[in-house]
Amino acid sequence: MEVELVYFCPDSERTLNMIARQSRTLNPGPEDAVNTDVFKKTIEWGHNEIQRFAFYCFHIRQLSRTALQQLSRYHFICMNVMSGRHNTTYNVVNPTEFQEFEGWMKEIMEKTDAVFGHIPLESRRYAYPDGLSVNLFIGMNGQELRHFLKQRMDPHAQEEIRNLANKIYDLVYTVHPIMLTNLK
Ligand SMILES: Cc1cc2nc3c(=O)[nH]c(=O)nc-3n(C[C@H](O)[C@H](O)[C@H](O)COP(=O)(O)OP(=O)(O)OC[C@H]3O[C@@H](n4cnc5c(N)ncnc54)[C@H](O)[C@@H]3O)c2cc1C
Repeated sequence: MEVELVYFCPDSERTLNMIARQSRTLNPGPEDAVNTDVFKKTIEWGHNEIQRFAFYCFHIRQLSRTALQQLSRYHFICMNVMSGRHNTTYNVVNPTEFQEFEGWMKEIMEKTDAVFGHIPLESRRYAYPDGLSVNLFIGMNGQELRHFLKQRMDPHAQEEIRNLANKIYDLVYTVHPIMLTNLK
């Protein structure tokens, strides 16, 4: 799986400080933006709405349909997934427990095509394994980002979505570390 941070509001941690200052001052201005403690404190207090002013967009390549199903449950993550009608690759995700069966899912795909090749792809895909991967874009605001990371970086989360969450954490950490306060 590859994950790229495609877009984020570059100045948003400064802006979030200014917005956070609104709670305490009549005329928040750019000078309030430099006080990085203010936004951080709102996170610690649970004053979550301020996080919604930031937005992050990621390009994910080779995510399994199993993980896609888990990701799709998040109401505030917007996504665009490559249509299954056009996904003609045999790229599959093999969880660690399947490593000794490397190639097994690809074989299923090939056998499925050998038997059902005459059936249009939009129906044939029902017979493909859930390990078949897709490419997609996802976007979310800072509050949903924190919510998703809290649930899916948990050691009990399934391996693939945990890997995704950790990659997202690392990418955001390079640009907005304060947004990730108290998540690790
Ligand atoms: C460990 C684990 C096990 C799971 N197991 C299963 C399972 O067995 N079966 C299954 O179906 N799903 C399962 N899920 C998925 C889970 O039920 C959620 O659908 C998924 O985690 C998204 O979480 P969410 O609804 O909190 O997030 P979001 O949809 O992103 O919502 C974020 C937050 O917004 C609020 N919110 C969202 N929608 C509403 C609403 N309609 N009304 C009020 N408040 C709302 C809530 O506070 C919510 O936490 C599991 C998730 C985890 C982390």
